[in-house]
Amino acid sequence: MRLGIRLKLFLLSVGLILVTVASFDVWMSRAIAQYVTVNIRDDLYVRAAVAAREASQLHAPFGDVAAWDGRADELAKTLAARVTFIAPDGSVMGDSVVDRDGLAKMENHRDRPEVVEALRTGRGSDERVSATLQIRWMYVAVPFESATAAAIARVARPLAEVDAAVTSARRALYVGSAFAFFLAILVAAGLSQRLTSTVRDLTSVARRMAQGELDVRTRRSGSDEFGALGETLDALATGLSQTLGELRAERDLQIRILQNMQEGVLVLDDDDHVVLMNPTLCAMLLLAGADFAGKHFLEVVRISELQSLFAKARKSTDGSSAEIETGGIKPRRLLVHASALKDKEGGLLAVFVDVTDVRRLESLRRDFVANVSHELRTPVAAVLSATETLRDGGAIANPVAAERFLAIIDRNAQRLQALIEDLLELSRLDAREYHVKKERVDGAALLNIVTGLFRERAEKKNIKLCAKLPVPAPTIESDQRALEQILGNLVDNAIKYCQAGASVTIRLEEDENRRLRFLVEDTGPGIEARHLPRLFERFYRVDAGRSREVGGTGLGLSIVRHLGEAIGAEITVRSELGVGSTFIVTMPCGDPK
Ligand code: ADP
Repeated sequence: MRLGIRLKLFLLSVGLILVTVASFDVWMSRAIAQYVTVNIRDDLYVRAAVAAREASQLHAPFGDVAAWDGRADELAKTLAARVTFIAPDGSVMGDSVVDRDGLAKMENHRDRPEVVEALRTGRGSDERVSATLQIRWMYVAVPFESATAAAIARVARPLAEVDAAVTSARRALYVGSAFAFFLAILVAAGLSQRLTSTVRDLTSVARRMAQGELDVRTRRSGSDEFGALGETLDALATGLSQTLGELRAERDLQIRILQNMQEGVLVLDDDDHVVLMNPTLCAMLLLAGADFAGKHFLEVVRISELQSLFAKARKSTDGSSAEIETGGIKPRRLLVHASALKDKEGGLLAVFVDVTDVRRLESLRRDFVANVSHELRTPVAAVLSATETLRDGGAIANPVAAERFLAIIDRNAQRLQALIEDLLELSRLDAREYHVKKERVDGAALLNIVTGLFRERAEKKNIKLCAKLPVPAPTIESDQRALEQILGNLVDNAIKYCQAGASVTIRLEEDENRRLRFLVEDTGPGIEARHLPRLFERFYRVDAGRSREVGGTGLGLSIVRHLGEAIGAEITVRSELGVGSTFIVTMPCGDPK
């Protein structure tokens, strides 16, 4: 059974009090008995002295039993004790409790201890059972001078009376002790209660601190041990909360860094179980949920190539890298660098970098270079072959043939020029060298310029070109040159691909969101829906032969898209095969009109 500190303290105090009171009582009861006995004896001596004085004035002969016994009876009443007179020869002359007949039968008292002592020292006492009366007495005797010799006056009280006095004194002692005992118990209970309530308070505060409530304080001070303990606990909590705060700030910073990193981070233990995985990696691997800690990495990542990579990284001092492909609906290429954790036996850190866009751009660049070379090669080859034929074949002497070859050279040189101009424009846009201006562009003037540029060509092809805009015409806050080029390219395409008799309309209007937009509509051949998503890519042509035939470079719409991005405009296309196409340039909102 476990006892509480309060009960232990209480029981200890009760035990101590009990032992103290018991030993005190044993000692006191003996002392009281001795004190009461001595007191009674001294009192008897006083009475014996009175009896002796009275007896010395009696002047009766020792044989006059009637006189002595009578005086003994009188004195016994006055002194409230048994009174005995003993003659010098030891015979009893008178006794207050023995009648006269009895006196004759009484033994000689010469050798009674109190008588012997009184005759020797002047006073004597004894306690014993009376031979005559068979009860216990306390006797005291003193000698007195009478007539010729010294006789003895003896006074006695039954020892039962002495015992009763001792018992009553002891009872008073016991009652007092019991009272003191209970008082002491009450004080001990109160003290142990106070002591334990302090300990309980301190324990409860310490427990709350242990549970993480580091802002609680004992608020105890003072010079005693509890004050010191309280102060120490408070100091401990202050220190702990400060350290914890610093640790938390450090951890939060690490979490923030991990959460905001562009790279995915994976930490594994020696058993390949996930210790940490940052949100970027979860997003890269399209993992829903957040708590993957404790799971085997293959259960979470499901890319088996990683297993061999990680095994290699654990063996190598510089770590190991590899590029992996994730499956699923959105495949990505990830560059993974894994290295063993130096301070953690068997631990591994893997950093994932998403290189999908980089690899796509690399492939785009490769394709672009291939496309450019291809585009350049054809006109250059045409020019070379024409000049060669002119020079070597003697065509130069034939004006008709010479004219034809010169026309070929001219057309291909123009194509090369257009291609180089478009490439330069694109590279400027790519390098962000195009500085966008913000100016007030008059809508009517802008459409006038664009239609003016293409009117002649349109008329030549028998295409109806017109502009439609609200009155008064809106003003656009944008880059005039970019807008001219965007609309120019779109109108150029429309005229290029439309057959004779078609019409091309440039419209300026407000859309349902009150944003200004330009529409370049034609009633040309239209574009199949499957081409629309790739239409703005570099060198993408619906019909390459037709494009080259009409002098297209395959870069016009790509330049339109880049310029649109530069001025914040959105370029979209609607088209229906056999009906016509509409290219829409929606200006960013907030443009004043
Ligand atoms: P290109 O120099 O070949 O015209 P673009 O990038 O300007 O290159 O256009 C890409 C392709 O889109 C063209 O080859 C053409 O097939 C198609 N296209 C563009 N505009 C129109 C149009 N208005 N009508 C029909 N097809 C068009």
